Amino acid sequence: MTITVFCEGNHPAGQELLYKARCMAPEARITALHEDRDPEKYFRCGADTALFLGETEDDCAQGSRIAEALGQQAPDIVLFPATVRGRFLSAWAAAKLHTGLTADCTDLSMTENGLLLQTRPAYGGGLMASILCPERRPQMASVRPGVFPLPGADIRPANAQAQIASCAFPETLMQLMDVVPTDNPCPLQQAKVIVAGGKGVGGKEGFTLLFELARLLGGAVGATRSAVDAGWIPYAHQIGQTGVTVRPTLYLAFGISGMIQHLAGMRGAQYAVAVNTDRNAPIFRAADYGIVAPWRETAAYMIRFIKERKGIQ
Ligand SMILES: Cc1cc2nc3c(=O)[nH]c(=O)nc-3n(C[C@H](O)[C@H](O)[C@H](O)COP(=O)(O)OP(=O)(O)OC[C@H]3O[C@@H](n4cnc5c(N)ncnc54)[C@H](O)[C@@H]3O)c2cc1C
Repeated sequence: MTITVFCEGNHPAGQELLYKARCMAPEARITALHEDRDPEKYFRCGADTALFLGETEDDCAQGSRIAEALGQQAPDIVLFPATVRGRFLSAWAAAKLHTGLTADCTDLSMTENGLLLQTRPAYGGGLMASILCPERRPQMASVRPGVFPLPGADIRPANAQAQIASCAFPETLMQLMDVVPTDNPCPLQQAKVIVAGGKGVGGKEGFTLLFELARLLGGAVGATRSAVDAGWIPYAHQIGQTGVTVRPTLYLAFGISGMIQHLAGMRGAQYAVAVNTDRNAPIFRAADYGIVAPWRETAAYMIRFIKERKGIQ
């Protein structure tokens, strides 16, 4: 028996559902499909696996990613919190997976033959309906937050594991991540992948992390004039009006605001991904994918992800 619980943002409802899943199916393998970066709290509520999906502001895209992750995992049961967003995402994912969904449950239990018995009010609360989904998989339900308690103690299973969902990044990024890591960086203007840093990277030491990411991607490191002027990286790496012009397949911009003089040098990139803490930064208008997040955590996350995918220690 496998159960996946979608854990929305920082909302505690996902933890309530994990604990409920553990209580009603003690032997089940339980996965927390989560959006935030703290797997520990899901382990404490009984999750064997915390599968990081990442968050996006586009709920349609997130619904599709949830469906993709569930399609790969093929769990028997999927539980969602019936928050406003959880209702939308659960309905989207159920439609994508061609399965049923019992929305807004007030109780859950297991039948003797291992089916999920879903209880919810019907006819304006005049009766309680007991619903089974005997044929389609996964069996899906959303449950109102606060219906089930949080565990009183830490019930972390042995061998709890944190993983990253393969659909946590766009497909093109995934394909590019399959390139072979190299210790011989290719010249900036010939690189298929460029990992570029700006003033937001905060110093010379920040570029060390970007060089590591570029190495894993078989790419080169670029920089803005501000980073070059600050002495964090030599001029040969400067991209833009008074630097070089590049045309990579993938341009990863970390802590770069996106001033016109910089954009002049990277507009030819096939795909640009911008990582910036300021959601109004002009770089997002030039990017195909935007990640509103601190650059360091994002770069470190990508490094971990690529290493895991390529089996590098
Ligand atoms: C004649 C002329 C020629 C120029 N030529 C070039 C050129 O060739 N190339 C070039 O790049 N510039 C050039 N410039 C400079 C250009 O105008 C900008 O000043 C420069 O590109 C800005 O660099 P930046 O994005 O690194 O810094 P900033 O504009 O200071 O942006 C830093 C960004 O980092 C973000 N940030 C901060 N902390 C974090 C964090 N922890 N995580 C994620 N994001 C964070 C901030 O939100 C901000 O958007 C030229 C300017 C002139 C006048």
